[in-house]
Amino acid sequence: MQQLDFTSLLKQYNLKATPQRIIFLKELMDAGHLSIEELESRVKSVIPTISTATIYKNINSMVQKGLLNEVKLPGVKTKYEITKYKHAHFFCKSCQKVFDIKVDTSCIYQEIDKEFSIDEIDVSVQGICRECLKDDKKVS
Ligand SMILES: [Zn+2]
Ligand SMILES: [Zn+2]
Repeated sequence: MQQLDFTSLLKQYNLKATPQRIIFLKELMDAGHLSIEELESRVKSVIPTISTATIYKNINSMVQKGLLNEVKLPGVKTKYEITKYKHAHFFCKSCQKVFDIKVDTSCIYQEIDKEFSIDEIDVSVQGICRECLKDDKKVS
């Protein structure tokens, strides 16, 4: 069922639905956000024979077509996610996890549109997530 979804998703972006790409998308769907190294180790546990070059090539073509989105966070390696609704990111400095946060970034356009020409808006927030805050309390 889910495999079918990825097949049509790839076709929607004019990409050939190869078994490898479907595995990449499945891993990204499960994890949400992965750096290329994280994705590589997950993919290699499914397809041990896959080369690093193949992984990079596939990720690049999916980014170029707009199916994957690069998530750039200060001080963290670029992560990739499946493109979806516009959102901001929260990065937990303790567990290094990236969370999607739904915020309306259109107010930024309204605020500075007259002074600047905006190409894209990339909002990221850093701090400690709820889970890590709980763990902290358990320890102390
Ligand atoms: Zn955390
Ligand atoms: Zn995201």
